[in-house]
Amino acid sequence: MYRGMTVHREGGAPKFFGDPLPSGNRDELITMEDMTRFPAGQTLLIDADDTLWENNVYFERAIAAFIGFLNHRTYTPEKVRQTLNEVERETILEHGYGLTSFTRSLVQCYERLSPGPVSEEQRERVRGFAKTIADHEIELLPEVQETLAQLGSRHRLILMTKGNHAEQADKLSRSGLAPFFNAVEIVAEKDAAVYREVMARHSLAASTSWMIGNSPKSDINPALAAGLNAVHLYHKDTWVLEHAELAEPGRGQHLIELDGFAKLADIF
Ligand SMILES: [Mg+2]
Repeated sequence: MYRGMTVHREGGAPKFFGDPLPSGNRDELITMEDMTRFPAGQTLLIDADDTLWENNVYFERAIAAFIGFLNHRTYTPEKVRQTLNEVERETILEHGYGLTSFTRSLVQCYERLSPGPVSEEQRERVRGFAKTIADHEIELLPEVQETLAQLGSRHRLILMTKGNHAEQADKLSRSGLAPFFNAVEIVAEKDAAVYREVMARHSLAASTSWMIGNSPKSDINPALAAGLNAVHLYHKDTWVLEHAELAEPGRGQHLIELDGFAKLADIF
């Protein structure tokens, strides 16, 4: 699926370029040379976490350390993880995304799975696993800076990220990428209604506007539902709560799948 790129045109059969897929029909195969760039003047809404910089991998490491510390007598690590996912879904509904929310989830999961009463010292140890995440430097994904510079010379770029406002703004500032963007949108949730609001706020024409990101659930499916085109950027460490089947694009809509940020400069 992610070996090259899949281009969906007007809801028709997908066309592939890059490595031929094992079951690929030769008639459907198009090469890089066949692919022309979309004209200048598109608006590209670009996700941040796991699109511009690493994010989820730090959470995965913290969770692995947490599961080791919990060292549950009967639950397998998978079962502990499943419980944490459930707790996280509940916490997010009430408190939104972000590190404070995640810390709360870890402590709650620990309390739920501990056989006896939990001491304040144990709680502090658990909070410590979440704290390691905030200490990371921003680690940009490959060729992000160069690619943004190229894209910005031809198109309007808007950062579109969800999460805790202060945390996301701080990451953007530390990344050094803020000057590449014409505008920044930090939203509590990415659903079709929010995409429509953003389109209205920036007077975006659906046919020349794109949402680009790693999450099928937050970046692709609701953006398509709002009428935008979309580019799915595959990231191997996408958070399990962001997994979903990619929706089919509607008539006249484009959905493109790429496996690297730099490839954006080939099509935009
Ligand atoms: Mg993301």
